[in-house]
Amino acid sequence: MFTPKLNFKFTLVMSWLLLSIVSRAQQSAFFVWETDFEHALQTAKKEDKSVLLYFSGSDWCKPCMKMKQEIFNSVSYKSYAAQNLISVLVDFPRYKRNALPNEQIRQNEQLAATYNEKGIFPLAVLLNASGQIIATANYKPGGSLPFLAYLESKIKPKNQSTTHSFAAMGSPFEITIVTSPEVNANELIAKAELEIRRIEKLISSWDHHSQTSKINTNAGLSPVKVDTELYGLIERSIKVSRLTGGAFDISFASINHIYTFDGSTNDMPSEEEVSRSVQLINYKDILLNPLDTSVFLKKVGMKIGFGAIGKGYAANMAKKFLINNGVKNGIVNAGGDLCAWGAPVNGNSWKIGIADPSKEKPFIAYVDLNDLAMVTSGNYERFIFIDNVKYAHIIDPRTGHPVRGLKSVSIVCPDAELADALATAVFVIGAKNGLAFVNQLENVECLIIDDNNKIMLSKNMRLNEE
Ligand code: AMP
Ligand code: MG
Repeated sequence: MFTPKLNFKFTLVMSWLLLSIVSRAQQSAFFVWETDFEHALQTAKKEDKSVLLYFSGSDWCKPCMKMKQEIFNSVSYKSYAAQNLISVLVDFPRYKRNALPNEQIRQNEQLAATYNEKGIFPLAVLLNASGQIIATANYKPGGSLPFLAYLESKIKPKNQSTTHSFAAMGSPFEITIVTSPEVNANELIAKAELEIRRIEKLISSWDHHSQTSKINTNAGLSPVKVDTELYGLIERSIKVSRLTGGAFDISFASINHIYTFDGSTNDMPSEEEVSRSVQLINYKDILLNPLDTSVFLKKVGMKIGFGAIGKGYAANMAKKFLINNGVKNGIVNAGGDLCAWGAPVNGNSWKIGIADPSKEKPFIAYVDLNDLAMVTSGNYERFIFIDNVKYAHIIDPRTGHPVRGLKSVSIVCPDAELADALATAVFVIGAKNGLAFVNQLENVECLIIDDNNKIMLSKNMRLNEE
């Protein structure tokens, strides 16, 4: 049986783990001389390494032979290089029996013209992954360690990945940032967590003292003046309601209390109760006054709630805080709502595995997130079973009934808040119309999985094999 609650967790793939557990001696076994310069640059870029060119005359230059023997053949060089360098042998043998292929000779001569104009042998030239010179070194007797210390002092300290998990907004959160070692990453993430907790306080419908609760308790009575931040969120929520023809509607909360979505009861409210409450759902009855940033819910009993947009907003704000504090790479996972920027330590983009709904393999595919958010609405976290039918915790504002038919809707777009709201809306709209709707939007893509595990993609949604 498919148990989506666990199965649908999106997992970050971290291949560096493997490297960190092999011993130094084993690492040296990974050492190889590269001879193709272009390929070396590409690998260096991909693996965040530097390039070391070793200009050698392997069959005539005695110091070259010594340098190779003492430095490059040492276990310490090989293990250091396996982690930090792409080593390129630029050889100029003189004897016919050692002659290199013409193509190789041409490349080596070009490299000498660019990086070893004076024709010094031996010469080690350290380059960054863009091919710019960082440092050069001649041969000096004394073993590999001083040479490695010199390289180490020239190579920029590597970025580090720091992750912190915590619970907020009733969901597990995880923040990962990639920063240089001198940055206090834990302190920055702790401050981003505080930012999320601040937002939780502002938008919570559970906290009776929150501004949101004040709006709800004054429904039908009087407008409530709120912070511009909350006012803005409500304004944007109404915009999404208009865009989605009311499928997304924060006034769904007017009806939420008649359902129990924690699995504790199988009781469905009476039709009478549903039709009475559904009349209270209407985003057009949320009246905004920009002059004093006040919000008025027109009808007594009406309520608003940010269950379908709040985590996306919080993810956006945590990202904004971190970027404003100089963090160039990171990913915020707000209970499965992801928003990523920059790149992980190894690789060019954040790779997100999409779990296989039929459980035949761990992931059906991967999505590359480059400065993008991916938010999933699903019936796997909170749901209700009635007569053996599983209903999601998402309400169709037109009928007042919980929606069924889909397992999950994932939206990919640059903005986590919008992705969050649209994922909920497409869940309500359904697969066919939902895809047509998303295909009309610019920079918005989606992946839908229905109850029969059928996977549907929007026009430009790209999945990768690995
Ligand atoms: P999400 O996981 O983002 O789809 O949000 C689901 C939550 O959004 C539910 O638990 C409700 O709190 C809330 N919600 C349910 N139906 C709607 C709706 N039609 N429009 C807006 N919010 C909704
Ligand atoms: Mg949502």
